[in-house]
Amino acid sequence: MRLLLIGPPGAGKGTQAVRIAEHFDIPHISSGDLLRRHVADGTSIGRLVQEKMRRGDLVPDGIVMDILRKPVEAASRSGGYVLDGFPRTVEQAHAAYLVAKNLGASVQVALHLAVPRGELVRRMLARGEESERSDDTEDVINHRLNVYEERTLPLLDYYAQRETLVTVNGARPIGEVTWSMIVQLQKVRRRVTN
Ligand code: AMP
Repeated sequence: MRLLLIGPPGAGKGTQAVRIAEHFDIPHISSGDLLRRHVADGTSIGRLVQEKMRRGDLVPDGIVMDILRKPVEAASRSGGYVLDGFPRTVEQAHAAYLVAKNLGASVQVALHLAVPRGELVRRMLARGEESERSDDTEDVINHRLNVYEERTLPLLDYYAQRETLVTVNGARPIGEVTWSMIVQLQKVRRRVTN
């Protein structure tokens, strides 16, 4: 099954993506993790994106598409993927669709993890206090949420029109959220594999 997760920063997307990937035995591919690895390794891509990432801005589409192409194609050939963090905009979704459709790699279900904004700010500030992560200051958090609302939320309409959208309430304990995602995905899987 080929699926992607849409959710605001702080919604627990990464945690849920790992659990879903384990459950369905397919790889978890996170654009943010791949980009952070480039930054940590000091590659030329890393140097290009690090300032934007630090500010909570999106990095250029071409860079993200480039680093995802190989892992997504490989995963599509062997059972599917859980994509986390991509696409972030309708433009990215459309560009990815054009590349993926001829490869049989296009997404079958978009899973939306919905959490109210107030709860997200609370969670991210708490996380920042624990780890002293400099990017979790209140200004950066608010900026990342604004970018999400302006650029990423329109994706919900995009996928709803394609009848591939499933929404799950993410403002619940982690295990409950995972469970309800898996139940919904099992239904979808029957539909897309029949
Ligand atoms: P994440 O771990 O998904 O929150 O991503 C961390 C950061 O990586 C984001 O704030 C962006 O700067 C960058 N990033 C990750 N995925 C994308 C994407 N699909 N398009 C543009 N920037 C991205």
